Parts: sequence; structure tokens; C-alpha cells
Amino acid sequence: MLVFSFLCFQWSAAQTPDLSRYKQQVQRLSEDVAYFDVEKINNQFYMIIGGGGNVGVFVGDSEVILIDNKYEVLEAVLMDALRTFTDKPIKYMINTHFHHDHSDGNKTYGKQGIPIIAHENAKKRMQATAELYGGILPFLEGFVQDKYPENALPVITYDSKISLHESGEHIELYHFGYGHTDGDSVVYFTEANIMHTGDTFVGYRYPYVDLYNGGSIQGIIQVLENIAAITNDDTIIMPGHGPITSRKEVLQIKTALTELYKKTLEGLQKGLTPKAIAASIPTTVGKAENIKLNYIKSIALEQERAKD
Ligand SMILES: [Zn+2]
Repeated sequence: MLVFSFLCFQWSAAQTPDLSRYKQQVQRLSEDVAYFDVEKINNQFYMIIGGGGNVGVFVGDSEVILIDNKYEVLEAVLMDALRTFTDKPIKYMINTHFHHDHSDGNKTYGKQGIPIIAHENAKKRMQATAELYGGILPFLEGFVQDKYPENALPVITYDSKISLHESGEHIELYHFGYGHTDGDSVVYFTEANIMHTGDTFVGYRYPYVDLYNGGSIQGIIQVLENIAAITNDDTIIMPGHGPITSRKEVLQIKTALTELYKKTLEGLQKGLTPKAIAASIPTTVGKAENIKLNYIKSIALEQERAKD
């Protein structure tokens, strides 16, 4: 019998959420991370790497726009990295989703009055304490993210698409439905043909799917399909984590996940165990045999949930 609950975790006023895992992580980062690497794409686009999700930077004529902002405790480090290539002020920030490693920095920038833009569900998730799903990445088991203070929340939200215009660039934020979470944005700079995918795509490896917070494995395959549909072979892709890459890799992981998903459903239909299903699928995605098995188990759980 399944003992997992897919209900969104909510803490009543009487209960204290266990934030120890988050606090340990923040402590470790503040001790270990002294600098970030900066990858220059061209004179207008940079990616800041390390200590959380990749931060995409667009340098406009007089101001800069940041996509994601890592952790509050690393903001001085992030600013040091930013100031190696621009002195311009930050006009606004985009959050690709609510996870702490991408938007914890809101706690710094919101206070400074820098407007934050995100999908409406990302804002909703930030307004509540959330437990992350540990079924794909076991190190996230029991990881609790606290709700954000009011002044760290996005001030502009959208439903399916929003367009921003800056220094001759058109910035399209797309929400393609349930994927990594239920509040993901992919951010496409159409003139430059550069996209930041957030964690819906992290290179040729299994993307983490947060089943406790609206994520869906079936959904993320569709999200990858949508990313492939609006980009082309020349699009430069900034993934949520990992090095800068291209649409080719998006298509490769989409194909691998589609195959895994199909074989899992067939296997479940035949009554096979997740282990037997895993054995029938060659590992082509990284060498993460255990993550493949976790993925299959998570697909099975998603199927159970769909029946409820
Ligand atoms: Zn994430």
C-alpha cells in the first residue's frame, strides 16, 4: 500500500515546521562560497554560476535584469560577480520558480524595492511553508522551505504568458503548466535568441520534479516539448543548473524521458516492479541508476495520484 501523501504540506499555527535542513544548507553555503564563476555569452548576456541555480543577467542600455537570485546569505557574493561586468542598477528580477536555491535572494532585493516578477503559483508557494519532494533526490527528503516575508514576494505575477520590453529586447515569460513545480517560468529573450529555462531543464540529466508542489513528470515532458517548439537550433539555453547548452540537449532529454515514461507505464500495466522496469531500460541519462529507479517509482506514484 502506498503511504505517500501528495497533499500540499501545510503547518498550522500550533506546529513548528522543521527548518533545520534549510538552515544547515544556508550555513554551509555562507561558509563555503566565496565567489561565483561568470560565463559571458556576449556583451549583453551573462550567466552567474555556483551556490544555487544559475543566474541569468541581461545588461540593458542603462539597467540590468536578473533571472533568479540564489540565496539571501550569498547576495554580497552575487553582487561581487555582477559588478565584475556591469555597474548598472538592477531594474527588476524574474523568479523562474519558488525554490529557495533560485529565489531566496528575494529576501534581500524585495527589501531594496527591486520589483520581482514570477508566475502566480510561484508567489502562492512562497506565501506558505513548503516541504519538498524527496522521492527523486533523496537528499531533499524532509527539506522544508519557510514562507517568505511579505516584502520578498513577487509584485508582478502572470498566468500563462507575459511580455517585457527593455533596450530593444523582447522578454517573453512562458508558463507551460505543471512541470518542475506548478509555478515555473521559462524566460525567452527573442531578439538575442537566448532562453533561461529555470529547473524545467538542467542539461542531459533527470530533472528534479517536485511532486509535493505541483510538479509532474508527465507535465515536464510536455514542458520540454513546448521549449523545443518555440526555440531553434541556434537558441542559447541557460539551464536552471549546469553549463550553457542548446536545444539539441533539450530534445535529447525529452526523448529519453518520453521513452522512460512510456516503458514505465507499460511495465506497471504488466504488474512489474519498479526495479524490473528499471532493468528493462538502458541507462543513457548520466550514470544515475538510482535516480532512474526513483523516477520510475515517482511515475508510479503520479499514476496512483491521478486515480484518486
Ligand atoms: Zn527548483
